[in-house]
Amino acid sequence: MRSGKVFVISGPSGVGKGTICSVLMRDYPELAATTVSVTTRAPRAGEIDGVHYYFRTNEEFDEMLKAGMFLETVDKYTHRYGTLYSEVERILDSGKNVILEIEMVGGLNVKKRIPESVLVFILPPSLEALTKRILSRGSETPEQIAVRQAQVEEEFDLSAGYEYFVVNDDLTDAVEKVRSIIIAEGLKGEGKEIKKQYFGRE
Ligand code: ADP
Ligand code: 5GP
Repeated sequence: MRSGKVFVISGPSGVGKGTICSVLMRDYPELAATTVSVTTRAPRAGEIDGVHYYFRTNEEFDEMLKAGMFLETVDKYTHRYGTLYSEVERILDSGKNVILEIEMVGGLNVKKRIPESVLVFILPPSLEALTKRILSRGSETPEQIAVRQAQVEEEFDLSAGYEYFVVNDDLTDAVEKVRSIIIAEGLKGEGKEIKKQYFGRE
């Protein structure tokens, strides 16, 4: 069965994308699943190869790129990231919606390749709250945080091409909004399917 859609979830680093997606999949496991991307960055404490990312060398990334395995790739924070076609297929084939938790350049490229995909941008309640969240995560050095903060304005500029905007103030509320977007988007075009069931034609 293949009825799922591709949803891109983007937003500044530390806004809560990962948290929203993991709550969504924990509470609604039948609704959607996230892909595992390839990255050339080193794993953070607790990150597992094949679960959080496929951690690969630059050379391995080049090989995969040459073999045409990526739906999209991006160079960011001096590292490379890429979405594998095989990951998207795997989830669509299971009948679920696909969530790509990726940054905006990649998101806009996905929309070009898959026009039916849906772009969702997550916003912090304020810039101060965003800084606090990045600090509370404690996974980046002060230099890495500075690089990421410098990109926030540019990231907001790129979000102009996005279709849905969700403020992640209260986490449960944000999760429910993202869930509603997925459900509503799934109903688009449903009329054709129902007509086919009733009359055997679109
Ligand atoms: P991202 O994936 O966007 O980089 P994370 O999901 O890692 O962000 O979240 C960054 C930090 O913010 C984490 O410590 C997380 O627990 C916290 N966080 C996420 N959502 C909220 C929220 N609604 N309110 C307060 N803190 C949050
Ligand atoms: P992090 O290093 O914090 O895991 O991710 C850094 C940024 O890269 C985040 O904005 C994340 O969403 C994005 N990202 C992760 N995987 C991919 C990917 O496959 N493609 C793109 N374009 N961005 C990705």
